[in-house]
Amino acid sequence: MAESRSTLNRDEVVAGVMALLGAAGIDTDLQNLREASVDRFRKYTAVHDIFDGPIPAVIAYPENTEQVAAVLRFADDNLINVVPRTGRTATEGGLETIVDDTIVLDGSRMNAILHIDPVDMMATVQCGVPLQMLEDRLREQGLTTGHSPQSKPIAQYGGLVATRSIGQFSTLYGGIEDMVIGLEAVFPGGHIARIKNVPRRAAGPDIRHIVIGNEGALCFVTEVTVKVFRYQPENNRFFGFLVDDFADGVDALRQLVTDGYRPSVCRAYSPEDAHQHFAHFANGKSVVILVAEGPKGIADATADAIEELFATRPHERVDNALIESWFDNLNWGQDKIDAEKLTMLNDHHLGYTTEVSVDWSRVRELYDAIMSRIRGEFPRAGDLTMLGAHSSHSYQTGTNLYFVYDYAISCEPREEIDEYHIPLNAIIVEESLRLGGSMVHHHGIGKYRTKWTAQEHGSAYSMVETLKRAFDPKSIMNAGTIIPLKL
Ligand SMILES: Cc1cc2nc3c(=O)[nH]c(=O)nc-3n(C[C@H](O)[C@H](O)[C@H](O)COP(=O)(O)OP(=O)(O)OC[C@H]3O[C@@H](n4cnc5c(N)ncnc54)[C@H](O)[C@@H]3O)c2cc1C
Repeated sequence: MAESRSTLNRDEVVAGVMALLGAAGIDTDLQNLREASVDRFRKYTAVHDIFDGPIPAVIAYPENTEQVAAVLRFADDNLINVVPRTGRTATEGGLETIVDDTIVLDGSRMNAILHIDPVDMMATVQCGVPLQMLEDRLREQGLTTGHSPQSKPIAQYGGLVATRSIGQFSTLYGGIEDMVIGLEAVFPGGHIARIKNVPRRAAGPDIRHIVIGNEGALCFVTEVTVKVFRYQPENNRFFGFLVDDFADGVDALRQLVTDGYRPSVCRAYSPEDAHQHFAHFANGKSVVILVAEGPKGIADATADAIEELFATRPHERVDNALIESWFDNLNWGQDKIDAEKLTMLNDHHLGYTTEVSVDWSRVRELYDAIMSRIRGEFPRAGDLTMLGAHSSHSYQTGTNLYFVYDYAISCEPREEIDEYHIPLNAIIVEESLRLGGSMVHHHGIGKYRTKWTAQEHGSAYSMVETLKRAFDPKSIMNAGTIIPLKL
C-alpha cells in the first residue's frame, strides 16, 4: 500500500480523465471501484465484500489507441499510478491497485477483430477481444488460434499478451510468445510504438519480448497480430493412461517430447489431482492425457508413437471417449465463476494454484520436496482437502508443474490470504528456485511473487530493473507488479 505521489487530489484525477474520455468513458461507481481494487488472488475476501486496499479513483474505458495515449500522458505528467486491465481473470494480484487514487485503464471496449488473413496466416485484434471471440470467428473459416488457456471464454488479448499466457495445446502451438507476430503498445508519456509483422528478423534484439509478459508494468498493449493455424479436428486422436507413479507419467511425456513428437495436449496428473478431474476412472492412480493433432499424416504418426511408447511402460488404458468428453467441459466461463462464489460463501472452501517450471531431471525431486514440506510444515495442513499437481506444458528440456491446493477455511475471511494462500505459495516458489527452476510458469509475477523476482533472475535482474527505468522512468505503471514497490 502506498500514498499517491501526485499533486492532484482524487477529484482532480477523475476530472482529468473525464476531460479526456468524456462521462461515458469513465466509471466512478463505488462498488465497481472497490471490485477493481483486487483480482482473483483475493477472490475469497472479495466474495465477502472485503476490500481493504486503496480503492482506485476511476476506471477509464478508452475507445481507441489515441485515448489510451492521452490517459497515459496525463498520468505520467501527474505521477498517477495506472493499472491496465482487460478480461480481469488475473490470479496473482496484477490488478491490485496498491497506490491511492489509481487510474484503472480498461481496454475491454477496444474489442474489434481488425483483420484475418488466411494467406499470410495471421489475425489482428484490438486488446479487448476475448480469445473465444477470435477463435469462433476463425473456426468459421477453418482456422484456429491454437491458443486455449482455461480462461479462454473471458480472457482478452491485452491480458493474454501481458501475462505470457499459455494454453492446453501448447506442446504443438507454443505459448502466446510463439504466436505474436507484431503488436502496438502505448508507453507512459503517450508514445505509440508499432512492432511490424514479419515472419522473422535479425534486426537487433526481439523487442516484442519487452511487451510480451510486461504485466502492465511497462506499457499498455492496444493491438496484437497473432499467427493462425488450420483447424483440423477430424484428425484428432485422444489418449488416456493410468500409471502408478506421477513422476513416471511425467517421464513418459519427456520421452515423447524429446523423441521429437508434439502431441498438442501433453498432461500428467498426480493421483490426488487426477481424482478431482477423473474420479469416474482414475481409481487412485496418476493419469496421463495426450492428444495427437494436425494434418492426418502427422496426427497418425504421433498417435503411433504414443501407442509404441506405452507398449513399453506399465499402464492401464482409459477409454478414449472419456478423454474426448473431458475437453467439452474444461474451460471456465462466468457459470463456473458464479458456482465457485457460492462454494466460497456457503462452504468456506476454495482452491488455488501455483505454477512453476523445472528441468526434466528434477521433476520427481521438486514434486516430493513440495509435497513433503507442505504436509510437514504448513501449520494448517489439516485444513487441506486436496493437494496435488499436474504437468501440462512440456518442452525439450523440461516441463511445468502446476500445484493445486484446496482448503476448508477455519479463520476469519480477512485472514485467509495470510493463513493459507501466501504460505502455501511461498513453499512452492522457494522449492522451485532451490532446485534451479522458475518460480512462475505462466500466470505472471503479479504482486505476490515480487519478493523473489531478484532471486528468479539472479545476475540478470539488473536488466529487468533497467527496462523498468527506461520505459517507465516516472514509475507510473502498475506499481508493485514484477518489481517490488520501494516505499
Ligand atoms: C479459471 C482460470 C483459468 C486460467 N487458465 C489459464 C491458462 O490455462 N493459461 C494461462 O496462461 N493463464 C490462465 N489463467 C490466468 C489468466 O486468465 C491469464 O493470465 C490471462 O492471460 C489474463 O488475461 P485477462 O485479459 O483476463 O487479463 P487481466 O486479468 O485483465 O490482466 C492480467 C495482467 O495483465 C495486465 N494487462 C491487462 N491488459 C493489459 C493491456 N492491454 N496492456 C498491458 N497490460 C495489461 C494487467 O495489468 C494484469 O497485470 C486462468 C485464470 C483463471 C481465472
